[in-house]
Amino acid sequence: MHLSRTRTLAILVILIEIVAIASIPCCVSAATKRTVLPRVIAVPILTYHYIRPLDGLDASGRSLSVSPVHFEMQMEQLVLQGYHAITPAQLDAALTNGDPLPSKPIMITFDDGYYDQFQNALPVLVRLHLPATMFIVSGFLNRYGYMYESTVRAADATGLITIGAHTQHHMNLTTISTLRAHNEILGSKADLERILNHPITAFAYPFGSYSTPLLREVAADGFHLAFTTVNGDRQSSQIRYQLERSHVRDAPTISWLSR
Ligand SMILES: [Zn+2]
Repeated sequence: MHLSRTRTLAILVILIEIVAIASIPCCVSAATKRTVLPRVIAVPILTYHYIRPLDGLDASGRSLSVSPVHFEMQMEQLVLQGYHAITPAQLDAALTNGDPLPSKPIMITFDDGYYDQFQNALPVLVRLHLPATMFIVSGFLNRYGYMYESTVRAADATGLITIGAHTQHHMNLTTISTLRAHNEILGSKADLERILNHPITAFAYPFGSYSTPLLREVAADGFHLAFTTVNGDRQSSQIRYQLERSHVRDAPTISWLSR
């Protein structure tokens, strides 16, 4: 039987299509639909500023301060209630890889790099062996009321304190140019890495102000986590550059912490 040339070509085309379809892996559609579920972990992250006596302070100063005596009582409360203070590296590993955390994880953070944090909080943290994080404004180092470079080195050398970046001059990053924000963020990272001679991978936004482009900037600059002032404790791998925190006020105990 002789097939016409046209019919032969048509059969060839059909055969090629069958082979092509058969060679497509069966699970392509399933793979493209697969989504990575976010890891969500409840970790309260406490935010402190000044650890100093409140006498003579105005309302604004008082709201940002916890007295040394009350700070010590709050830290003892954490220990007594069975909380385990964790580092940014532990939170990062938990969010990224699902690494286990100790029971009742909590983070203790300090913003701005005030000298009184070193003077009044660090001895308590060392005595109770509580890891904590200090976000430093690198351009304010060595100024009156702020830590010195040597102080930052000493805090880092305890092995309990993670030093994080908080820009060079504590500007509201959402109100300055993209280039200036880039320089503020990356500049503080570079300053602290020069002082400590190791990578700085945690960042806190001054005034808690951030925007979508800033989230990208912080990620591109090599930070693993970034901390806001959004109130909450639900940390997620999908918002690792928008971690939630809780501002702590002066009181003998942190009343809202669950027992
Ligand atoms: Zn700040």
